[in-house]
Amino acid sequence: MPSPVIVWFRRDLRLADNPALAAAVAADRPIIPLYVLDEVSPGIRPLGGAQRWWLHHSLSALGRDLAARGLGLVLRRGPAETVVADLARQVGADSVLWNRCYDPGSIRRDAVLKRVLVADGRQPASFNAGLLVEPWHLQTGAGGFYRVFTPFWRALRARFAPPAPLPAPAGLPAMSPAPAGDALDSWALLPTRPDWAGGLRDGWTPGEAGARARLARFLADGLAHYEAGRDRPDRAHGSRLSPHLQWGELGPRQVWHAIAYRAASEPALDGSADSFLRELGWREFSQHLLFHVPSLATAPLRPEFDDFPWRPDPVQRAAWAAGRTGYPIVDAGMRELWYSGWMHNRVRMIAGSFLVKDLLQPWQTGEAWFWDTLVDADHATNPASWQWVAGCGADAAPYFRVFNPVLQGEKFDPRGAYVRRWLPELAGLPDDCIHKPWLAPAAVLARAGVRLDETYPRPIVDHKAARARALAAFAHIKQKAA
Ligand SMILES: Cc1cc2nc3c(=O)[nH]c(=O)nc-3n(C[C@H](O)[C@H](O)[C@H](O)COP(=O)(O)OP(=O)(O)OC[C@H]3O[C@@H](n4cnc5c(N)ncnc54)[C@H](O)[C@@H]3O)c2cc1C
Repeated sequence: MPSPVIVWFRRDLRLADNPALAAAVAADRPIIPLYVLDEVSPGIRPLGGAQRWWLHHSLSALGRDLAARGLGLVLRRGPAETVVADLARQVGADSVLWNRCYDPGSIRRDAVLKRVLVADGRQPASFNAGLLVEPWHLQTGAGGFYRVFTPFWRALRARFAPPAPLPAPAGLPAMSPAPAGDALDSWALLPTRPDWAGGLRDGWTPGEAGARARLARFLADGLAHYEAGRDRPDRAHGSRLSPHLQWGELGPRQVWHAIAYRAASEPALDGSADSFLRELGWREFSQHLLFHVPSLATAPLRPEFDDFPWRPDPVQRAAWAAGRTGYPIVDAGMRELWYSGWMHNRVRMIAGSFLVKDLLQPWQTGEAWFWDTLVDADHATNPASWQWVAGCGADAAPYFRVFNPVLQGEKFDPRGAYVRRWLPELAGLPDDCIHKPWLAPAAVLARAGVRLDETYPRPIVDHKAARARALAAFAHIKQKAA
């Protein structure tokens, strides 16, 4: 039997538009598909709970898709630089192929593995499956990386046309006998005591087929309303593709072409298509930043924030995480996150601003909570967005812009439908009180069955005072930057 090729799946859990898999097929040799659960290599960030749930189901789906084509997905656990090299020796694989990841831990580890494989006389090769444009391909006129989104996006659109996506291979030659691996259940990725994943099961179908179905639904129902409705958490006009993109069940080139094709047949969709592609651009920009600033997840991009006078307070942070701040739009978002593993983008901004500005909690604490609870938690987008919210990131929102959670709620959830969905204890309040229950007359509260501090908390901080305190703290930054 000819020497097999190992295809090491990582954040590319799909068969279509998978260049590493396509290269293995083109080599016309037996293929060993491999996934390694690596939580121990230096610099690798352990997965959060929601991501572990997703990974279990996504691997299960990938395993089924491969089995339907005659291949068994091999699961192994440990430091990938050792595990992959050992498997290559065990099966005598000449080449090992994978699609690239851009977080610093993976880059370091993959470089080590590459050296080991070459020293063993094998041929490693890596490909781009996860980005429209890899971070080193775009440079500013001065030769550096982009710190500001708009010129980055302009350059990306002017210089790159995403190639057409590759089809899923029809047949995949297997190695016989296939190497042994772990049983997926033995990795215990699913929560058991307690099983908090009921909301995730209700809302998501991990895997390539689920991702395609989600994209098809968005093209049919969401895209037409995207431009006008994307900021409205009370409407379902976003694509909710983020976890599928995050795990590579769908690649950005596939999404790009599907959107462009749909818009070409219906020019009225141009505005929405542009606005949607721009969001994909933000995803690219985050990866660009992380590649060029590997400390993105831990250190502020703007050094004047290094000694910002945060006021770490575990009690306030816990109230925020549990959705018990007394500000309905913030609490609704945090409950949505806990239940479904996802939160609407506008509400992520409002809840994030509340944590870092109203409560003066370090942005890293919010980033860590999101990392643990989001099914789409991403090495680059999560910290980049938190830095943006805190005002210390690239292209950040100005630090003196402090979202007012009542006005934001009234603007983006004007009838309170989103709040009522996630905070049923407030459902009986009339629209004009839903975002500020503590100001409702006693009779209105009584009619709605709301007892402040019993069924729903009063605000844990007064926004006006908290805003003034935040601005005073930020004045310190202004002086340093001057
Ligand atoms: C504090 C904070 C933390 C965030 N953490 C993450 C994260 O860990 N992972 C993540 O994927 N997104 C994150 N985002 C960005 C954004 O909220 C989500 O990508 C979006 O809500 C996903 O919903 P959707 O798929 O319906 O998006 P759509 O509006 O349908 O957008 C399409 C795709 O574009 C990308 N995208 C959309 N908005 C952004 C954005 N602002 N920045 C980067 N990419 C974007 C996503 O891949 C998304 O699936 C964060 C935003 C904030 C404010």
